[in-house]
Amino acid sequence: MTNIDQVLECTRVLHNTNIFFREVAPWPNDLKKILRPRTQIPATELVKNFPLCGNKETHQLVNIIRKTTLLTNWQRTYTEEEVGSDFLNRYGYYELIGPKGHFYSKTLRAFIVYWGEQLTYDWHSHEAEEIYLVLAGSGLFKTKGKQTILKANDYCFHRSWQSHSMITSSEPIITLVLWFGKGIQDMSKMDQG
Ligand code: ZN
Repeated sequence: MTNIDQVLECTRVLHNTNIFFREVAPWPNDLKKILRPRTQIPATELVKNFPLCGNKETHQLVNIIRKTTLLTNWQRTYTEEEVGSDFLNRYGYYELIGPKGHFYSKTLRAFIVYWGEQLTYDWHSHEAEEIYLVLAGSGLFKTKGKQTILKANDYCFHRSWQSHSMITSSEPIITLVLWFGKGIQDMSKMDQG
């Protein structure tokens, strides 16, 4: 039996291993389980059959994410005009923790986010501070003046309104994205060209 509670528990364990996460984005103490509709998007099948398993720190969470793919509330923030149809067909996320999450909290937002291989997630920003933790696969994470390839259990941090982008190459990627601080209830916006 696998369910969303196990996704939460594996996320909590992984979060707890990292002192930076514990300090800047503490695990919430106001969590409340909410029934969210199960929704599927084109990427749901791709997550269910995700070909990589992460590393020794992340593989348990990756495995439970794959097994519970059909139980969760998959969404896409952007429109086809913003990101194109290929992107929309091979990207998606669900809100595990947060104001609209499977577990309500008003202090932390945690998203499970997937991107297929060979995708460009263009420059965007938001008021909330953010941590991306790679669970499996890899991507090139960029801020103005810096770019780094991140793999399983690597992470990066973005300040409030700091523009960032991400490119996948030969591998898809699953990440845990944490939002905290002012503006956590808002949405990400693409930078204006
Ligand atoms: Zn972001």
